Order: sequence, then structure tokens, then C-alpha cells
Amino acid sequence: MSSYSIATIPGDGIGKEVIPAGRQVMEALAEASGGALKFSFEDFGWGGDWYRAHGEMMPADGLDALRGKDAILFGSAGDPHIPDHITLWGLRLKICQGFDQYANVRPTRILPGIDAPLKRCKAEDLNWVIVRENSEGEYAGVGGRVHQGHPIEAATDVSMMTRAGVERVMRFAFGLARSRPRKLLTVVTKSNAQRHAMVMWDEIALQVSKEFPDVSWDKELVDAMTARMVNRPATLDTIVATNLHADILSDLAAALAGSLGIAPTGNIDPQRRYPSMFEPIHGSAFDIMGKGLANPVGTFWSVVMLLEHLGEAEAARRVMAAVEHVTANPALHTRDLGGNATTEQVTRAVCAHIAAEP
Ligand code: ATP
Ligand code: MG
Repeated sequence: MSSYSIATIPGDGIGKEVIPAGRQVMEALAEASGGALKFSFEDFGWGGDWYRAHGEMMPADGLDALRGKDAILFGSAGDPHIPDHITLWGLRLKICQGFDQYANVRPTRILPGIDAPLKRCKAEDLNWVIVRENSEGEYAGVGGRVHQGHPIEAATDVSMMTRAGVERVMRFAFGLARSRPRKLLTVVTKSNAQRHAMVMWDEIALQVSKEFPDVSWDKELVDAMTARMVNRPATLDTIVATNLHADILSDLAAALAGSLGIAPTGNIDPQRRYPSMFEPIHGSAFDIMGKGLANPVGTFWSVVMLLEHLGEAEAARRVMAAVEHVTANPALHTRDLGGNATTEQVTRAVCAHIAAEP
């Protein structure tokens, strides 16, 4: 028997709908395993409501409560009444940085039954995984503001890259590319215009590539990359990019695969010193909150990544098969996919498939 302790942090908005749905799926999986797989859950009510009550998004000792967990399933942090930089830095980034989850892994492919916008592209042409540097770069938090409110006011956000930080994410990306059938990596850069950190990024890519002679790789400027994703999707497989670049590219990737509501992500500590955190890439989406419209597929796919990270490949395959079974049926599409199904109907269908199919 394998037993895992999982932290759930629904956060804000539709996070409070999709995370309980994700937990239901994991419970259905445990049930279907006949005792081979067990999860114990602890739920943390951090986020906007916690901020209103306590003046912070999570308690100061919050990381200690998470430290012993095997993994974290996270919903979303964002609240229309609280500035975005507070909700983001006060919860999600605090966990990512506190647990040094330096590789943010974002798989994208067109699931069965999904009407994706690229009409010239076959579903099998778009099967990518984006690795986002998740600990420094443009979101290092380095910078400041001076002379606020005066005509000479100035502000900076410094993109800080360290050799150690770039090397480790580059090594992770080459390793991930090696583990996939095509063994193909594209390193996204902007070293034509950003002539310090991005030049070092390129140099480190070349250096690390020597450790992976079996991986074919190329370099692409981030602006050209957006066009390539649309025009030549089949030339891409594994992609590595900086914190900001990959943030933007992965939203494009999610849209090209059909909906923001489907896409998953894992914030990974590859060294496994701390728990890794899995979450749908969508935000809190207050516009659809409380209406049963939230697509839970991004969360279910995140559960698949969580299971893979725990080494439960068979369980992961079982959940993914249930997800693909459900996306293949237009009657089980939520509104973002052009259907009428509710969060609950999709969740029930996924759980039923897990129970019925070994
Ligand atoms: P945040 O400020 O937390 O990023 P947001 O309001 O910007 O949240 P996003 O989640 O980024 O919302 O998504 C943008 C829009 O896409 C939402 O307003 C919503 O209509 C739609 N959307 C996002 N996720 C889902 C989902 N899981 N199911 C259905 N629609 C979704
Ligand atoms: Mg948003």
C-alpha cells in the first residue's frame, strides 16, 4: 500500500470549486485501487478571505504546516478587492520560493474532443511541455520605486539571473526533453536585445547541452517563438524559457490547445527537498464563480501530474484516461468549451470512469 499526505489550498474564486472536485477524483481513485493507494488530505483556507481576517494571505508559519506533505494541490490566488501583487506574492509565490520549486512544468496538448483554434494543425502536431524558470529572472522581486508622486518618479524591476539558477533549470529541461520520445528541446531567448542576462542564458544552454548529446536542441527568440507556435507547432516538443517569457508563452499554448480551463502545471522541486505544488494555470475567474461553470479539467490534469511526481504512473494513467474519455464527449463540455455541462457533472463522470475502468 502507498499512502500520501496531500495539502489542498483552494484559494480564491473558482479555486474553491475545482480543488474539491480534484479531491473527489483522488478519493475515487483511492477507492478504486482497493486499498493499494491512500490519500490523507489537509485543507488550508488561505487566500483573499484569510487576508481580510488576518491582514495576510497565509500565516507566517504556513510553510511549516506544508513542509511534511507529499504534495500540494493549489487552486488560485486572486481577488478583485485585493491588489494582484499582494495575492500573488503573499501566497502562491511565497510557496514556490519558500520550497524552491524552481521548475514550473506546463504540458499542453489537444485532448480528444476539444475544438482547438488552429485549423491547419492536427491534434498530434501540438504536444508540448513548457519548462518555466520559476525562481528568479524577471520575477525575482528585485527593484524599487523612488520619488513617488513627483515628476522625477522612477521604478525598476530588475531581471536577475544567477548562473546556478539558470544551470539547474536548463539541466532539468534537457533531462525532461531526454525523457520524451522526440528528445527535442527549444531554448527560448531574447539575447539580441537583452544583452547581459540573456546572453549568459544562451551560454549556459550551450554548456549544458554537452551533457545531453542525445537531445537535439535549437534556440528561438521569444517574439519569433509566438509565431512558430502558431505556424509550425509540430517543430516543437520540450521548451524552456525564463519566468516572464514562459508565463506568456504558456497562456498562448493553453489557448491554442482549446481553453485556459484545461491546462495544468506543476511547480517542481526536482531535488525533492520540499513538497511540489500542482495547480490549474487559470486564475480565480470571479466572473463565473459560484455558478457551476468552472471547468475542472485543468485541476484533474494537475492531479495526473501530481500522481506522476509521486511515482504513481499507473494511477496517473488511469485518471488521464478518465479525463480524455470525458473531454471526448461534447455533452460533458463546460461552457468555456462551448458546452452546457456543470463542474459537478464533469467531476461525476470522471469519477465514474475511474470506478468502471481498471
Ligand atoms: P486571476 O486574477 O486570479 O488571474 P482572472 O479573473 O484573471 O483571475 P483567469 O482565470 O485568468 O481569470 O481567466 C480568464 C477568464 O477565463 C475568466 O474570466 C473565465 O471566464 C475564463 N476561465 C478561466 N478558467 C476557467 C475555467 N476553469 N473554466 C471556465 N472558464 C474559465
Ligand atoms: Mg488572470
